Amino acid sequence: MTEKHTGLPDQKELEKEIGDYLSRKYGDRVKIVSAGFFPQADGEKEDCSGKSDEHELPFHFDLKPEELVAYLDEYIIKQDRAKAVLATKICTHFNRIRFIRERRFSENGHAGRIKNNILLIGPTGVGKTFLIKLIAARLGVPFVKGDATKFSETGYVGGDVDDLVRDLVREADGDLDRAQYGIIYVDEIDKIAGSVERQGLDVSRTGVQRALLKPMEETDVEMKVPHDMISQLEAMEQYRATGKRQKKVVNTRNILFIMSGAFDGLNDIIGKRLHRQTIGFEGRVVSAAKSVGELASVKADDLVRFGFEREFVGRLPVCAVLEELTAVDLRDILLNPNCALVNAKKLDFLVYGIRLCFDPEVFSEIAQLALAEKTGARGLSGVVENLLLPFEKRLPSTSVQFLVVDRVLLKNPEAELQRLLLSSARRRRHKELFEKFKKLEFERLLAFLHEKKQGCLARRGVSVTPARLEMMANQIVEESCDADAICEYFGTLVNHIKEWQQRIGEKGQLKVTFDDAAIDHVLSLQPRTLETIDALCKRVQHYVVMGLQLLRQKQEVAELMIPIAGVLDPEKFINELVEKTYRV
Ligand code: ADP
Repeated sequence: MTEKHTGLPDQKELEKEIGDYLSRKYGDRVKIVSAGFFPQADGEKEDCSGKSDEHELPFHFDLKPEELVAYLDEYIIKQDRAKAVLATKICTHFNRIRFIRERRFSENGHAGRIKNNILLIGPTGVGKTFLIKLIAARLGVPFVKGDATKFSETGYVGGDVDDLVRDLVREADGDLDRAQYGIIYVDEIDKIAGSVERQGLDVSRTGVQRALLKPMEETDVEMKVPHDMISQLEAMEQYRATGKRQKKVVNTRNILFIMSGAFDGLNDIIGKRLHRQTIGFEGRVVSAAKSVGELASVKADDLVRFGFEREFVGRLPVCAVLEELTAVDLRDILLNPNCALVNAKKLDFLVYGIRLCFDPEVFSEIAQLALAEKTGARGLSGVVENLLLPFEKRLPSTSVQFLVVDRVLLKNPEAELQRLLLSSARRRRHKELFEKFKKLEFERLLAFLHEKKQGCLARRGVSVTPARLEMMANQIVEESCDADAICEYFGTLVNHIKEWQQRIGEKGQLKVTFDDAAIDHVLSLQPRTLETIDALCKRVQHYVVMGLQLLRQKQEVAELMIPIAGVLDPEKFINELVEKTYRV
């Protein structure tokens, strides 16, 4: 925002003049604080419709669909088709934005393009929100979730649909540029369908659909609105800080809208269509569509029959159907080392010094209990919480250190709690069981890290060695932490070791690398901390730099690969190297 040149000093010059005057008169005791000192005229517009920083995206994006699928596989059980559709279309959406920006094409030149807004169909608790949250987190784009039932024709509880865009800006910590690449997720979208069966089209519901049309395609959304106190306060704060009133606007051209719902009754509509078709062509009767396969063949006409305006359906060109989860799927969710519920529960006990673990066999029974709730995977958390609450309340005031959830406990939790409180033999039994299941968990973790976490480790710059995976699996089990946290931690440690390679190289003026076995040894030292790495690498640096002075008297040294011997005993390693050089 440049000042217009009028011959008068601009704000900065004026502030400087007054500042100089004040310090001449009062010394350093008086300072001019400029914020809000010279308010400017209204009407300046900070437009973030992609024109401010023309060619750089506010986030790094170079993902391919299959990488995103592999990432989702780490967390999501089943839903392979939905994973494939979402990963592909979302990757293409962001790659297209990157491509257009990099090639410096005008975004306006692509007016005819259709945004890959997505419709997600599936019952409650099967992973719809979870999938989108994971994707947004992986891409590093802001994400907000709204509920279509909260919209009314005139607005979204005292506001309007645009509030979701404003929420996105808040999620992006006020960064308008980042917000315009966010994801808006609207749940219960089926509730704004004006069903034909509900006697004619429901006017207010279709009104909400119409209100969504513009943001779903492209519109400018103003940040400051009279009904939104927070946006008003932010505008005041901004005025106070900068002295400018800016009209902040976010364009929704690149914001991805994902609409989701259970769509009860849609299968009947599809079934009827299929039935009509088959009567017509083959004279065979097909029952209502029940399986995902049939739901996946949903057509725009089916959605119109369900009660959506054709224009609204037209703005959702991508559709993914999620399947109902079976008891086996729910068990597999609990068995997955990335299961947030199990990991959170372990942590809840660990904060009191209690080690919690599950006999994997009870996961099947917990899954059966959760299935009865008919809320998909959401049912799992209720079952686990109810089961463990009495233990979580009582055990922290006792000396119990191990708790194993096995069939006995599941069958009669209250009796098991009493036994644990009264009998030291029972406590010993839990400790023994804990050790037994810890071993099983270690094996499971090792397989999981090997199969699913290689990409995650590579992203963090960690090359995979068997020793490293074992160390990681061990630490996850020993400290009851989750796999992601450990991948992150190992990433930090390995990168720290690489920084040391660099530092030693600079000191010795050569290229230094630790081989994999050497890095594994450094990582195996206890306590496994940055300080431990520092202490060892300092010794290595000391001997390498000293040894190099001797080596260089005999021959040119441009590169040094440090093997495990070099970190086990740096002094011996360098001495041997020097001796060998002098012998030849
Ligand atoms: P919805 O389909 O109603 O949006 P969510 O995605 O919010 O359901 O699922 C609720 C929770 O259940 C998630 O946070 C996740 O922990 C778990 N969950 C649901 N589906 C799956 C799945 N397919 N794989 C792993 N966890 C799942």
